[in-house]
Amino acid sequence: MYTVTNPATGELVEQIPNATDDEVRAAIARVHGAFADWRRRPATERAKIVLRAAELFAERADELAAIMTLEMGKRINEGRGEVGVVVDIFTYYGQHGPDLIADQPLAIRGGEAVIQKTPLGALLGVMPWNFPCYQVARFVAPNLVLGNTILLKHASICPRSALAIAEILHEAGVPEDVYVNTFASSRQVPAILADPRIQGVSLTGSEQAGISVAAEAGRNLKKAVLELGGSDPLIVLDTDNIDETVARTATARMRNCGQSCNAPKRMIVLADVYDEFVEKLTARIAEYYRPGDPADPATKLPPLASVAARDEVAEQVATAVLQGATLRTGGRAIDGPGAYLEATVLTDVTPEMNAYYEEIFGPVVLVFRAESEQEAIAIANDSPFGLGASVWGTDPERMRRVAEQIESGMVYLNSAGGSQADLPFGGIKRSGMGRELGPAGIAEFMNQKSIRF
Ligand code: NAP
Repeated sequence: MYTVTNPATGELVEQIPNATDDEVRAAIARVHGAFADWRRRPATERAKIVLRAAELFAERADELAAIMTLEMGKRINEGRGEVGVVVDIFTYYGQHGPDLIADQPLAIRGGEAVIQKTPLGALLGVMPWNFPCYQVARFVAPNLVLGNTILLKHASICPRSALAIAEILHEAGVPEDVYVNTFASSRQVPAILADPRIQGVSLTGSEQAGISVAAEAGRNLKKAVLELGGSDPLIVLDTDNIDETVARTATARMRNCGQSCNAPKRMIVLADVYDEFVEKLTARIAEYYRPGDPADPATKLPPLASVAARDEVAEQVATAVLQGATLRTGGRAIDGPGAYLEATVLTDVTPEMNAYYEEIFGPVVLVFRAESEQEAIAIANDSPFGLGASVWGTDPERMRRVAEQIESGMVYLNSAGGSQADLPFGGIKRSGMGRELGPAGIAEFMNQKSIRF
């Protein structure tokens, strides 16, 4: 079942049955059948439709934000902000897509060649609940401009977002069979990947889902892009305004109730700033992040996406404390029917504890003390993940030197947890493979065909 449960109240709102195997096969036939015509259209025509979709997303921002608040508890203002990023992504690919996929002449030894950038065919997208609109946009906007067609399986707690997105795309002019939403279950994904009519898969989600989808893609020799979990380090080298650094780093961690893949989950603070940073961060987290209704714009701490997700995070915190970590504030599930967890700060987490290497997907900050710049870099890199990172300080050269030594797909200086349409996004190690957004994002499911004259 695709199930909408309001995480703020526990109320069951709607259930939609999963697609049958026959329905899934019919959906595959539709996206496969639509490819020949879609790819033949001029790129500028597809781009125009994508630009129209940007306008429709902007017009329906309030409605989409309300759906996300209901489905996964996102703060209403954050939902509106998310739709703003979606509009940017559709606008970026609508404006720049045709140039990014233009033929590229290549001078070669003994002759001339051209690299032609053509689509692969029908693709499967498997998407998570944490950014129900933005995650879909990252995959869909570039691939529609390129000429691929899309079968989209959204997270099973986000059916209303899934339907609203499909409606917007169709209203913008994407043919019904070029973008097809399916309420397939995750158990039906292997059969979809085994179908020869599907040419590739993009998954954003957990490590476990990534392992399963990568294995199936490999077994069927299909291209896979995987955007998985992270435990991004945030290194504070120094600061000339500790209150501002604390407020901004806390905001980055607490965005989306801590449920962002690239949130700064591990803060690594140099020794001369550490004590004051921990004291002020603890006060900020305890006082500012009070639970409330996510539909109220004044709320700072919404529920997590589900009671199950909340209980998993509470369990991770409890295990860390049992293993010897120091709980500075928070840590407990909040009584009541909603999926609320107190905002939490943990220190003294060591490599022997599970929390040191795990992703904690909720409003929990881990703070580490580093005696030197080199030790901070070593702690940052001592992780199975490699999605994003950030370096905070006052000396741009020093920050850049540190950034260059961090093993991750992205590093931000003096900001964290961001994403923008024209900047490639993605990770290394167990955070996945491939890139979305920017020029790289349109090249993943592209046949870069060499024609030699
Ligand atoms: P999830 O449980 O892995 O679900 C993501 C999607 O994968 C859902 O549509 C889910 O379907 C499906 N799925 C789950 N198991 C599967 C399997 N074995 N085979 C095929 N599909 C499967 O992840 P989530 O809890 O929604 O999202 C949180 C995770 O996503 C975090 O780890 C976060 O860091 C990561 N994430 C990464 C990025 C990035 O860009 N790197 C961005 C956002 C989130 P059902 O809903 O039907 O189970």
